[in-house]
Amino acid sequence: MPLHQHYINGEWLTSSKTRDNINPSDPSEVIGEYCEADAQDAALAVQAAQVAFPIWSRSTPQQRFDALDFIGTEILARKQELGTLLAREEGKILPEAIGEVARAGYIFKYFAGEALRMAGQLLASVRPHIEVLTSREAVGVVALITPWNFPIAIPAWKCAPALACGNSVVLKPSEFTPGCAWALAEIISRAGLPKGAFNLLMGDGVAGRALVEHSGVNAISFTGSTNTGRTIAQHCAQGIGQTHKKYQLEMGGKNPLIILDDSDLNVALDCAVNGAFFSTGQRCTASSRTIVTEKIYSQFMQAFVASTAALKVGAAIESSSQIGPVVNQAQLEKNLRYIGIGQEESGQLLVGGQRIATLGAGYFFSPAIIENHNPQARLNQEEVFGPVSTLIKVKDFEEAISVANATPYGLSAGICTTSLKYATQFRREMQAGMVMVNAPTAGVDYHVPFGGTKASSIGPREQGSMAMEFYTTVKTHYIA
Ligand code: NAD
Repeated sequence: MPLHQHYINGEWLTSSKTRDNINPSDPSEVIGEYCEADAQDAALAVQAAQVAFPIWSRSTPQQRFDALDFIGTEILARKQELGTLLAREEGKILPEAIGEVARAGYIFKYFAGEALRMAGQLLASVRPHIEVLTSREAVGVVALITPWNFPIAIPAWKCAPALACGNSVVLKPSEFTPGCAWALAEIISRAGLPKGAFNLLMGDGVAGRALVEHSGVNAISFTGSTNTGRTIAQHCAQGIGQTHKKYQLEMGGKNPLIILDDSDLNVALDCAVNGAFFSTGQRCTASSRTIVTEKIYSQFMQAFVASTAALKVGAAIESSSQIGPVVNQAQLEKNLRYIGIGQEESGQLLVGGQRIATLGAGYFFSPAIIENHNPQARLNQEEVFGPVSTLIKVKDFEEAISVANATPYGLSAGICTTSLKYATQFRREMQAGMVMVNAPTAGVDYHVPFGGTKASSIGPREQGSMAMEFYTTVKTHYIA
């Protein structure tokens, strides 16, 4: 089996440490062997990116368009093959995996266009005979640190705008899903970029930390857990006045879905099941709290439990599977631990919450609903990041909004209602970066802003034209 190497300074490089990439549907299947970087490898990648920056940042918009368009075209042409790789290494079912690959392709196409649209402003001065202009410039060397749950879409939505703006990149994907990032790097290696403008550094937190602490890195875009995000923010704050680093952190969520008495029950059920359990509940935007008003509570609960029990869990590439395995043993244990915590704090397990051993050695876990009406219960406050939803009964819309807002997080939130008044009030009062009406909390467009408020996010939005905010710095010009 060939060893998958780092891509640094236009070359494929080996490091002394490697890691097997394991299929969560069948842990005896090794997808491939991937290099794991240490601090020295990270330093090489940063150095290559530093040398490339003056060249790539002065490339023409046409050169950047051509490179990104080439990458997007190839990803789209290979979506079946790359989707199969994604399903095998991460565990989401094949249609979802192919959809994610297509999304990555469209993101590159979108940002190819954005490279042509980088614009400044012409402003009138308050003083006579002076013109004021603003322009946008690339930030420098950017380290992109990504999680395992969207192993090609998240690298794409960071790499594409970073490169479109003329930054040089070091991508550090999750150690649990290096396969898609490696395949992406292989495509980028043929896109005509100058050597060192894009580098792939695989490995775990050691490699990530080395990038964060390297003085040659000018900006860090991170998606992952709140704990790691906090460490990165602390490091960047310490560097203020010395090696200032710009940073952007996309972290956890505890997303609520509110279902009101007047909702269409079929729509509400679809939103609840899709939002909580599709992609095995391993989406930062998954609805992990389902908040239901009292008049329809019992009717909705029965339907929600029955639909959840009927979901077919199975191997990611089986066409009959609706829910794949969780990503690894540690995540399986975390899910089980939280089911225990939920029961200890008097939550009632209504369905699921077990390891499904009959499906073999894969990390299969039955989607779970736990009823606990106390908004302060740990299961209503802490992110599990698995197919686990709580069910909370509330009196009315006002109580629903107050419960929905009662966590430190603020990523995505949804409501099911036929009332324009409540839908509007919800969109206004909900403390979240994304609000959905009669739609699941997860599942977003690739060309519009993405991100959260409160403890979920720090820094400018990702995706869409707003992504340029993070990957550029503004220069103001005065001309007399
Ligand atoms: P994680 O924080 O464990 O790892 C994320 C990345 O950080 C990995 O590449 C990891 O190797 C690296 N890393 C680990 N320690 C580091 C350190 N000290 N310094 C620098 N890098 C380090 O997160 P995960 O388990 O891979 O992902 C799951 C989390 O991601 C969940 O909390 C989920 O909500 C969040 N997530 C958020 C979004 C969003 O957009 N808000 C999207 C997807 C996932």
